[in-house]
Amino acid sequence: MYDKKEWGIQSLIRSVSPESWIRWKEDGSTEKVDVTAIKSLENNVVTIAFIEKDGNVSDLYVNPSRPLPVPKLPQQEYGKIFETGKMTDGYKIIRDEKSNVQMVIYQLVGLADGEQGIVQTSVDLTETLALQKNLLTIYVIGSLIALIVGMLIFRPVLKRTMVPLSRMVNTVERIHSENLSERLPNKQGSAEIDRLAVAFNGMLKRIETSFALEKEIQEQMRRFIADASHELRTPLTAIHGFLEVLLEGGAGKPDQLKKALNSMYSESERLNKLVGDLLAMMRMERSPEIRMTSGNLGELICQMEPQLRMIAGARRIWFDLSDDPVIAFDPDKMKQVILNLFQNAVQYTDPSKGDIRIGLEKRAGEIRLSVQDNGTGIKEIHVPHIFERFYRGEPSRARKYGGAGLGLAITKSIMELHGGRIEVESREGKGSLFRVCLPVS
Ligand code: ADP
Repeated sequence: MYDKKEWGIQSLIRSVSPESWIRWKEDGSTEKVDVTAIKSLENNVVTIAFIEKDGNVSDLYVNPSRPLPVPKLPQQEYGKIFETGKMTDGYKIIRDEKSNVQMVIYQLVGLADGEQGIVQTSVDLTETLALQKNLLTIYVIGSLIALIVGMLIFRPVLKRTMVPLSRMVNTVERIHSENLSERLPNKQGSAEIDRLAVAFNGMLKRIETSFALEKEIQEQMRRFIADASHELRTPLTAIHGFLEVLLEGGAGKPDQLKKALNSMYSESERLNKLVGDLLAMMRMERSPEIRMTSGNLGELICQMEPQLRMIAGARRIWFDLSDDPVIAFDPDKMKQVILNLFQNAVQYTDPSKGDIRIGLEKRAGEIRLSVQDNGTGIKEIHVPHIFERFYRGEPSRARKYGGAGLGLAITKSIMELHGGRIEVESREGKGSLFRVCLPVS
């Protein structure tokens, strides 16, 4: 603003001819010389003065409507303008003796006689400064109002974003491995944050599931190791006991020796079966391989007939294998299923009055192989658990027959590998019927 003013006034000064300045300073008359230029200069300034090289200052004009004192600068400042030909800033803002603020503008002019002089004009800044002050006040107040209004408008928006976010942060901080069921609030009124919460909750759920699975696997493993060691310890302790008896002199008595050897033989058989079962189960868990071939279950059972009769002893066996479609199965594994079920039927039936029926039946898109006996049956409370590992219905009786409670667990795993299932119907004292079902397709 000041620069513009300076530039405008300097061009007004320039539009006045040097003769005019001479006449003006000498006789104070401006008539007939550059009247228009001088008039427009007078209209734009409050004072005009002329400074000669010797330091003489002639006051040429003082605005009658605003009679301010003509500003006077120290002599050396004028001298500097004469020397350099221009002012450092082009203008100066000063406070005159009556404390009015004036903008003083200088212009070095060459006179007709070859001399130089300085034309000094001044502009009253009182109004400009007041205007500046007003504008500044308006700007400050306006900015404050804009800030407050902006904050008021933005506050709800800020609240809608920040509050749900901080709630989420609080919840996330509470979550740890023992506390995975915690969920983030997912209806907080902000679509993006709600989506984030839903995604986060999904991830938490997946983590929780895999943690639970991991825990379950660890627990199963712990139980399995405990059960297996317990089962292995029992026959080993028995063998150890018999050996002790023999070493302490029992070996010399033929009847004691025979009894101990017989017992050790049956204990080692049990040990053998247990280790075999454990191996079979481990193999099935580690690499559940299945070699499916097409064939008839009836044929497989017929092949096994001599072996089954041998295991059954004096028990009677009935076969009903008329319904015998071609299906896909793993012959080795199905052999093991039949053997497990048949051995159980033998174990839990009377050696002389036992009846065992093996049947095949095609029904509802599957082939059902059943092994039925008229043995001891299973107590109702045991039925839901008999397919669990190491579960024995009547431990004392089962142990007598040598089982460790793994046979049915293995059978169930084999059936699941085939995409089939196993069922049981049993009545205590009447007998049991085990049925394995395989899909015909
Ligand atoms: P084990 O090798 O000890 O026989 P299984 O897994 O084959 O173990 O059987 C688990 C339990 O189911 C047995 O301890 C027994 O109580 C019961 N069970 C299985 N088959 C029969 C059956 N044919 N008659 C009566 N109880 C049976």
